[in-house]
Amino acid sequence: MPDLLPTVPDATGHFGPFGGMFVPETLMTPLQDLAQAYEKARQDPAFQLELDQLLHNYVGRPTPLYYAQRWTENLGGAKIYLKREDLLHTGAHKINNALGQILLAKRLGKTRIIAETGAGQHGVATATVCARFGMECVVYMGAVDMERQALNVARMRLMGAKVVPVTAGQATLKEAVNEAMRDWVATVDNTHYIIGSALGSHPFPMMVRDFHRVIGIEARQQILEKEGRLPSMLVACVGGGSNAMGLFHPFLNDADVRMVGVEAGGDGILPERHAARFQGGKLGVLQGTKTWLLANDDGQIELTHSVSAGLDYAAIGPEHAYLQSIGRVEYTYATDTEALAAFKTLATTEGILPALESSHAMAYVHKIAPLLPKTDIIIANLSGRGDKDVEQASKYLL
Ligand SMILES: *Cc1c(COP(=O)(O)O)cnc(C)c1O
Repeated sequence: MPDLLPTVPDATGHFGPFGGMFVPETLMTPLQDLAQAYEKARQDPAFQLELDQLLHNYVGRPTPLYYAQRWTENLGGAKIYLKREDLLHTGAHKINNALGQILLAKRLGKTRIIAETGAGQHGVATATVCARFGMECVVYMGAVDMERQALNVARMRLMGAKVVPVTAGQATLKEAVNEAMRDWVATVDNTHYIIGSALGSHPFPMMVRDFHRVIGIEARQQILEKEGRLPSMLVACVGGGSNAMGLFHPFLNDADVRMVGVEAGGDGILPERHAARFQGGKLGVLQGTKTWLLANDDGQIELTHSVSAGLDYAAIGPEHAYLQSIGRVEYTYATDTEALAAFKTLATTEGILPALESSHAMAYVHKIAPLLPKTDIIIANLSGRGDKDVEQASKYLL
């Protein structure tokens, strides 16, 4: 591991060999403009102040770092702390990024926002900030997902967003991303595309990560206040990888802090039955970035499966591919069954219904905590609340 890990990618957005800008020619200039505008905003105290105030007064930051005492005592090993992103406005970490990006869009003079969404969580976060800033909002969503996530579709529409069904292919997230890209190529003059995870072309993976770093910055300060030392281990689930990058990034140069990313193991590591890109995936390019993804031998993107829609995607964010390649972060997976068991454990032990995405991180904590000494400290990111998953969890658990 290098002494000091780079905190920014190179000028074209590479983290080692990963990342980059694999986009149609017409988007190159707008993306370079976006990167420049972001760089300026980042260094502008007025931008940071507006963002910080909204994160505090509107979104509900800082979130608590909660000692899960009963769970810890039941497992009899490392002390478990939960970073409570589930308590944020709209119920998950995604609003941190949606808010940062809409402030940037406003600076760029854009009047229209587009997004795509799978489970609907990012769509809801985007519709929320669009309502707050009076911007036109169009959300692309697979027709199949719209049916599965009717509640989130209604939430978006109630806040004034237009939700456009996408019927191509599997009619899920990947197709919705393609449709959003098509829209953006034609409308980039007045439109900003709020990407919802640490994915896509540069500068998105860096920008999205930065808007979520507040998670790790707070957690670091909070654990030092509570315990007087850094944690032994950080754990987070990894879909595109934004909540994990947000927690991990401020600790990357603390060599004694282990970090574990948990992907979706679905029904187990069989073709088309999971979404664990580091388990049998390969290097390729998908939707703007070069990274680790699930594809067959012809390079065709494979179908994926997970009980949690938010982790059900064929590619992982490029910075995770980099951190895996240099061995700084370990990656493992939890199956649907393990995630559901962890959902139930947290519900009955701590009175917290975690999102099924977050339940994957909790499943790993459940496994590892008893194997670690009581003097160890784990911080696990509780990326979202499980109200949206109640129906699915009831089907399996009641
Ligand atoms: C979307 C989502 C995720 C997965 O996205 P990342 O970018 O990997 O963080 C995880 N947890 C919750 C609650 C989500 O809504």
